[in-house]
Amino acid sequence: MLPYLDMQEAEASLGRELSFAEKLWFNYSAKKHDYFLHFHNFIFLLFFYSLIPLPYLLAELIRSKKIHKYKIQPKVKRSFSDMFNCYKNVMQVFLLVAGPLQIIAFSNIKMTGIRTSLPLPSKWEMFWQILVYFIIEDYFHYWIHRWLHTKWGYEKIHHVHHEYTAPFGFTAPYAHWAEILILGLPSFLGPAFVPGHIITYWLWFILRQTESIETHSGYEFPWSPSRYVPFYGGSEFHDYHHYVGGRSQSNFASVFTYCDYIYGTDKGYRYHKSLLHKSKKPSFK
Ligand SMILES: [Zn+2]
Ligand SMILES: [Zn+2]
Repeated sequence: MLPYLDMQEAEASLGRELSFAEKLWFNYSAKKHDYFLHFHNFIFLLFFYSLIPLPYLLAELIRSKKIHKYKIQPKVKRSFSDMFNCYKNVMQVFLLVAGPLQIIAFSNIKMTGIRTSLPLPSKWEMFWQILVYFIIEDYFHYWIHRWLHTKWGYEKIHHVHHEYTAPFGFTAPYAHWAEILILGLPSFLGPAFVPGHIITYWLWFILRQTESIETHSGYEFPWSPSRYVPFYGGSEFHDYHHYVGGRSQSNFASVFTYCDYIYGTDKGYRYHKSLLHKSKKPSFK
């Protein structure tokens, strides 16, 4: 909810005319409670989780030669019901765990200083903040994920996420409910340390979710971000983590490759890649 009676008052307060985007934001958010704006995050979670994996689902069902050559584990075939069961399972966990958590977390999110008001953040402010959020999330995700690969963590919690040794888009958040909570936490640390506008906050979660689905897609396309973004792990990097499975002590980071490089947990992956390169095989199997 914005602290202005009308647009003129907002412009007088800022000492300038509102930009086009700010007028849109004013019209959309002026009368909406911050709690409702905060809850958008949960709606986006459900919406984008249902939408983004669909092209990968179609690619898997159609299996055209043109696209199938980019599949990382090409011998593994998934049926529609197999993928839909995964989707249903994740949606249940979202509705029973992530939804109620969003309701409870509002006061904590508010305390961090995330703002809903005008002015809107500049593109650079959003870019730098989201980059910082990615770096913070990646670092904490690395250590929590590594802990989840201890005997106790794996047997009690993390084995659920590793049910699929060849991941596909819908498997990105397929996990034990406790893992959704534990590994979800690092996503909130960036906005807590460096609070920004709620639009940046929404965009961060949408991008993080998109990245996670791409990483679990099972396809490494020529346009994959891993070919253009320095230190970006991408689907092949994380697919190897699933391929090795419960024994995996490799490729723990969520987004970038540098943590695994620094702490020496990518040696198996690099050795495997060098063997593939020598044998000129494009995929793991
Ligand atoms: Zn794992
Ligand atoms: Zn995974």
